[in-house]
Amino acid sequence: MTHKPKLKLATTSLAGCFGCHMSFLDMDERIVELLEHIEFDRSPFTDIKQLDHCDIGLIEGGVCNAENVHVLRTYRANCRILVAVGACAINGGVPALRNHFSLKECLEEAYVKTPDMINPHIPDDPELPLLLDKVYPVHEVVKIDYFLPGCPPSADTFYRFLSELIEGKEPQIGKVELRYD
Ligand code: SF4
Repeated sequence: MTHKPKLKLATTSLAGCFGCHMSFLDMDERIVELLEHIEFDRSPFTDIKQLDHCDIGLIEGGVCNAENVHVLRTYRANCRILVAVGACAINGGVPALRNHFSLKECLEEAYVKTPDMINPHIPDDPELPLLLDKVYPVHEVVKIDYFLPGCPPSADTFYRFLSELIEGKEPQIGKVELRYD
């Protein structure tokens, strides 16, 4: 009997809180089962820094700075299937709350107007990634193939989604995943 080659899976977090990654880990022992069929590439789980060509890329978080744009485009260029994971990737989520204000207002509030700041000034080290005017959902920057809703998507959602891809099926997002309460 011939074994199918393992699917290569990469993940990353842009402007997110890593809660989606933590929820992935909540699959617990089912991850061991999945590892029969998938292998990790670049991901915070592996600490691999170089992205190889992959079958699946899971993107957590919205796009808030130039580095996020670069990383997202790199994943799009190297991943056959790119997935927006969680509310921040799908619609900007919590980081996009800053979109109600100008970038200047946000920076001044955080670094200048905050009481008891020592040497209040807006950080301007050239090594810092350039902030975008707004936080953008990932599909406004690159083409996305699937959206996994939730904040975060549940471990069951990750498991079902990956199992269906492993089986070569078209993943279905059910009513359970689309609940927002
Ligand atoms: Fe965190 Fe929720 Fe955003 Fe995921 S969707 S990165 S859990 S805030």
